[in-house]
Amino acid sequence: MKISVGHGRDGAVERLEKRGVSRRDFMKFCGTVAAVMGMGPAFAPKVAQALTSDNRPNVIWLHNAECTGCSESILRTVEPYIDALILDVISLNYHETIMAAAGEMAEKALVDTMKDPKGYVAVVEGAVPTAVAGVNNEPGAHGKVSGHTMLDTTVKVVKGAQATICYGTCATYGGVQAAAPNPTQAKGVSEVVPGAPIVNVPGCPPNPFNLVGTIVHYLTKGLPELDEVLRPVAFYGESVHDNCPRQEFFDNDQFAPSFGSEEARKGWCLRKLGCRGPETYNNCPTVKFNQINWPVQAGHPCIGCSEPGFWDGENWEGINYMYADLTEI
Ligand code: SF4
Ligand code: SF4
Repeated sequence: MKISVGHGRDGAVERLEKRGVSRRDFMKFCGTVAAVMGMGPAFAPKVAQALTSDNRPNVIWLHNAECTGCSESILRTVEPYIDALILDVISLNYHETIMAAAGEMAEKALVDTMKDPKGYVAVVEGAVPTAVAGVNNEPGAHGKVSGHTMLDTTVKVVKGAQATICYGTCATYGGVQAAAPNPTQAKGVSEVVPGAPIVNVPGCPPNPFNLVGTIVHYLTKGLPELDEVLRPVAFYGESVHDNCPRQEFFDNDQFAPSFGSEEARKGWCLRKLGCRGPETYNNCPTVKFNQINWPVQAGHPCIGCSEPGFWDGENWEGINYMYADLTEI
């Protein structure tokens, strides 16, 4: 069973037009993807070519311990064509949340794709519970899909994949599921399948443009350059602080004293309200969400969601510090 937005024998551009995406909008989108990738406008036609190629990769999209917010970040975008493009550019053979198939048909789609000589790319959302549990003392038994542990399925799928994209902080570093005391011993995929060709696209939620950019990079040039925690340098190479419009206030020691204060509204720095922008690497200030706004612009500190261990605050006081000021609201 395949999920596809394809319409008969039309080409990709025609399919998108039927979904209300004009060629002009499509090329504008490709230009934005090229910019997010750090390429000039001349790369936009290559983005368009990659996104409309007939040679669509098979994709298995797994959902482990998570809230499904990462899929939602794609499906609920203001621009309707981001989900259309992502679902059109790949052959999404298996996606536990949105696939129409259920039960044995769904299982068959997974097994058939894993056996397809063409190979496949895996996308994983959610952390992997690894603790021994249940009456059989089975490793990973806290999370099961169709009778198989998420642990077992993830290891098999990722080991067989040409590449794996971990989408969101739970799949990359365990996220909230891995927060202390972590009773399920939830882990990120790269910890469970070390050495596999994995690209981490963290964020809570992650920005869909970083996923599209990663897919386009994979289709045009192979796996992107990664940092030490497997994030594409093109998207996570600079800190949130590096590009924050409040930085001049940081440099002048002008810090907003409370949420909603006059100073916060004037754009003063949110560092003393818990902002983790200087320690957090992501492109939120430049790409924004829905290309409209991002947390610090809206008056909320960066909580460091794209860093390993952010929930417990490995280098800070974590969530308690972040909301210490809320008592004054
Ligand atoms: S608000 Fe945060 S990211 Fe922006 S300048 Fe202040 S510390 Fe840096
Ligand atoms: S501003 Fe910080 S916490 Fe918010 S999405 Fe970006 S990296 Fe995550």
